[in-house]
Amino acid sequence: MIRRTKIIATLGPATDEADMLEHILQAGVDLVRINFSHGKAQDHERRIAQARAISQKIGKEIGVIADLQGPKIRVARFQAGKIQLLADKRFILDAALASDAGTAERVGIDYKALPNDVHAGDTLLLDDGRLVLEVEQVVGHEIHCLVKVGGELSNHKGINRQGGGLSANALTDKDREDLSVAVRCGADYIAVSFVRNEEDIAETRKLLNTAHSTAGIIAKIERIEAITNLESIIHASDAVMVARGDLAVEIGDAEVPGVQKHIIHRARVANKAVITATQMMESMIHSPVPTRAEVSDVANAVLDGSDAVMLSAETATGAHPAIVVAAMARICVSAEKQPRASTSKHRIEMRFKRADEAIAMATMYTANHLDIKAIIALTESGSTPLWMSRIRSGIPIYGLSRHIITQRRMTLYRGVYPLAFDITQYTRDDVNKAAANELEKLSLVSTGDLVILTKGDLVGKHGGTNALKILQIGEIY
Ligand code: PGA
Ligand code: MN
Repeated sequence: MIRRTKIIATLGPATDEADMLEHILQAGVDLVRINFSHGKAQDHERRIAQARAISQKIGKEIGVIADLQGPKIRVARFQAGKIQLLADKRFILDAALASDAGTAERVGIDYKALPNDVHAGDTLLLDDGRLVLEVEQVVGHEIHCLVKVGGELSNHKGINRQGGGLSANALTDKDREDLSVAVRCGADYIAVSFVRNEEDIAETRKLLNTAHSTAGIIAKIERIEAITNLESIIHASDAVMVARGDLAVEIGDAEVPGVQKHIIHRARVANKAVITATQMMESMIHSPVPTRAEVSDVANAVLDGSDAVMLSAETATGAHPAIVVAAMARICVSAEKQPRASTSKHRIEMRFKRADEAIAMATMYTANHLDIKAIIALTESGSTPLWMSRIRSGIPIYGLSRHIITQRRMTLYRGVYPLAFDITQYTRDDVNKAAANELEKLSLVSTGDLVILTKGDLVGKHGGTNALKILQIGEIY
């Protein structure tokens, strides 16, 4: 059985180790995430180039997500890289301290205005809420805190205020610079952190247009404001991410599972892709096996309808990234065996405005009700496969495109497998056969199998899909 749910792995020091990147791609990673919160431009460039080279070597197109830091407030660095915060002891966040001078008593902060924004009595959560500080008083550039919950605190960990309301613009100056690095390196998706509203997405789109990039935009849903403006944010974006780390801090951890289901559902209804992220296999940063709860979490994200599930520190800094990816892959495959993962009554009563969307829906209805082995979508922009994949099904959707950008874009879509196919090389009469041959060559179908092929009349035109044809492999068509 082929896995439908896609796996995103964050790259970092652990995947820089000898051959590890190749191992995780072989183990099933479909997209890599470059976290611009850590590392320098040359690290990002090197990792993207390596990922592209290995992808070519193993013959599998992968997607690259550039995840912008956004206005996340973080501690600066420690002289020793990390410290232990002790409960009931005092600790100072010092806006005037040099960025690498942190000690067990105090640490710098990158957002210099923080002392103006917090007040005595505020609760500050560090490292996605693992550590808790209570603000006792603000003295000039120093925030004096009492440690309520201690533990290890390392370089660049995030700071949130309980209840939200701390940070400003979604795109910082650093994000604008990072975005141009990402565009230069050919990122397929830009993930925007701490999105508040559709204007944040529109602004990102404008920057991408100016840079002549067609990268997709992923809105990270991790603030209270983004939940309020969810519909318009989904509408403006190409995909959304349930960014549970910061989201849990802002809205309370207990609210997250319900909100996750809601976001996934709304994204799918709006024909957008959706990613579930953060702490999915957290214990596997150290442990070689996941906890029962982690197995359930990944499986439930699959059953909720996620296009992709994401690994963060598990692959970026974990002890055994390839083992985590393999574990996640087998959990996805098992969850997808549940009948509700492949049956759908979705949109049966809906009316469509576009011919290509109607063709996509008709294809899925036909495929799910006939003994169809595979769907072959000849696509320019990837829209038809995206629409198809909004319908639950167990049938693979092969997105055949001559555009590498489209192939890479489709790596995110659940149940969609990109293949390179240059439609302009064939005449109208032999394109069906050539496309079917492509799948036969890869042993994805064999003689006698029924497949559905979709395409447009006008070769190479975006939005032109208007035909659905049922073919039997090996017959003359
Ligand atoms: P981050 O985003 O890892 O960049 O913080 C994901 C999240 O907040 O869950
Ligand atoms: Mn976040």
